[in-house]
Amino acid sequence: MPTISVAKCDDYQNAETAFLHCIDHLGGISQFISPGDKVVIKPNFISRKRPEEAATTHPAVIAAVVRAVQDAGGSVILAESPGGPYHAAILKKIYETCGALEVQKETGCELNYDIASQEIEYTGLKKRTFSILTPILQADKVISLAKLKTHTMTGYTGAVKNLFGAIPGLNKTQHHFELQKKEDFCAMLLDLCEYIKPTLSILDAVWGMEGNGPTSGTPRKVGVLLASANPYALDLAASHMIGFEPDEIETVRQSLDLGWTPPYSALTFVGDPIEAFHIADYKRARGSEIHFLRKINLPEPIVKKIDSLAQAKPKFNPNLCVGCGECARCCPPKAIVIQNKLAKVDLKKCIRCFCCQELCPKKAVEARRNPIFEKLFSI
Ligand code: SF4
Ligand code: SF4
Repeated sequence: MPTISVAKCDDYQNAETAFLHCIDHLGGISQFISPGDKVVIKPNFISRKRPEEAATTHPAVIAAVVRAVQDAGGSVILAESPGGPYHAAILKKIYETCGALEVQKETGCELNYDIASQEIEYTGLKKRTFSILTPILQADKVISLAKLKTHTMTGYTGAVKNLFGAIPGLNKTQHHFELQKKEDFCAMLLDLCEYIKPTLSILDAVWGMEGNGPTSGTPRKVGVLLASANPYALDLAASHMIGFEPDEIETVRQSLDLGWTPPYSALTFVGDPIEAFHIADYKRARGSEIHFLRKINLPEPIVKKIDSLAQAKPKFNPNLCVGCGECARCCPPKAIVIQNKLAKVDLKKCIRCFCCQELCPKKAVEARRNPIFEKLFSI
């Protein structure tokens, strides 16, 4: 049965000690890394956000993991394709703002600037073609070093969703465009995770993000690091810890159905008691509260109908929008135009992927519903 290691971490200053506890409970880093391994650590650097904004994996946790891998004889490259365009100049800015340059200075690890990718064909739940960053394909081992966050489209993002950043730049939007149903998009995330097969998955939940994640929510202290060899079990444990039901998160629901993780009651926990970190009122992202309908015991077809009627739409705040065009460049169906330095959306074209919200540097995009549903789901 999958084992989840739990280590209390009150403050990022204690990240190294906490991570060493966390990994020791799984038998030590040498269970995962052998001398000479070329290891890619895939952090969550979704966009140019400072560590204290809780949208990205904190550099103190990254440095702790890098040092542990190096101590085991592995060499480390940090590789990530953030949302939006993918080129060396953008990567440099992201590394600077997210704190990766400091990690490089401290540890001597490599930061990836190689924007090459290769197409692979993979038949998992479906036959798919993925473009994947070359450094990830060439690594001996991949570590998914994720951030605990809510997510407007998928409900939650952790170890599995983190690997979507293995797909280069705007290539990601093609998947959004082709897989507009959440079930299909999440099945693709599972296939991608199965293909990459991270050796180890680690979750930075010292400070998570609640509310309108993955970039416009609010930091919330959880105070813990989690790690497991099984990314599906890790996401089940972490989402349970913040009060989500498994069927609220499509990747978790599907991985349970597929038997890729056993139910929560069958997971093995080591380290600190996970119950100490439970949060009952962790705020969901707007648009992902289907659990509320299930709690009032409506028949499932009615739940699904109301859920689709209540689906949130992107709303652009003209007081915050600066007309930078980042959202328009990344919108999969090209539903956004910039007019008079303001973003305008054609909702008939919009596929509700919320890439615009994810990538807006000014938090100018909100997920909004019809006011009746807004009241019903008020969180
Ligand atoms: S909504 Fe955000 S990303 Fe889009 S143009 Fe305005 S500021 Fe830029
Ligand atoms: S407007 Fe926003 S939510 Fe709609 S398709 Fe474009 S990026 Fe996705």
